Amino acid sequence: MIEIVLAFAVAALIAFLAWKARALSESGAIAACALGGVTVAGGGWNWGVLLVVFFVTGSGLSKLADRAKPHHGRIAARGSRRDAVQVMANGGIPLAFALINWFSPHSIWYAGFAAALAAAAADTWATEIGSWSGRPPRMITTLRPVEPGMSGAISLPGTLGSAAGALLIGVLAALIAPTGISSPIWLAVAIGFGGLAGSLVDSLLGATVQAIYRCPRCGSLVESLVHSCGTATTLVRGYRFMNNDVVNFTAILAGTLIAMLFWQLV
Ligand SMILES: [Zn+2]
Repeated sequence: MIEIVLAFAVAALIAFLAWKARALSESGAIAACALGGVTVAGGGWNWGVLLVVFFVTGSGLSKLADRAKPHHGRIAARGSRRDAVQVMANGGIPLAFALINWFSPHSIWYAGFAAALAAAAADTWATEIGSWSGRPPRMITTLRPVEPGMSGAISLPGTLGSAAGALLIGVLAALIAPTGISSPIWLAVAIGFGGLAGSLVDSLLGATVQAIYRCPRCGSLVESLVHSCGTATTLVRGYRFMNNDVVNFTAILAGTLIAMLFWQLV
């Protein structure tokens, strides 16, 4: 009982600091507190360490990219301050594994949790590191050069960044794995591979089914219903329900399943 209270207290403190640092909105901080508390209470402190490393590296990269290129994310619907929906789009699957582990502990849930975080990290790292690329990215489906920040666009630095982000989580997950985890080295490899695969699924969905809108006033392509210039946008391709959060969630689910399948097969 004391452990659970302590878990939520530490999660609340970290969420508060992240809100202070403008990495989370108010709703994002509340969601992050719940996610952190359930993670530590249902998994353990090593699960919490993975979550904090995922969050700090991802937010740090976003802030760095923002500072260097304030408009790099202009196609994105929101800024680098994550709200509750974004927190859950990235943390919903890890949260589910922590909840399952709370009621029915098994080392495989730890692997799933780490794989899901790695897939989320891979996507964040790809976007932020890709924004540093000097050359325009290319559409994953046609390989034609497109505007930076466009959904479905990939670049070499972004792809390498996504592999690095996933591998960081994978190696850390193997190093601090609970006893009973089978073949931790392969777990790290599987998580790195699954994370990279997940971020490519994200780009594929972004290039095909994700909703993209055009601002009739300035002609910009955006992911939001209202452009930052205040004008309502019109759908130019994709499905309305396939917003950035749905794409993120689906890609993380795919990356997690690929990583766990890989790990079980080796
Ligand atoms: Zn506009």
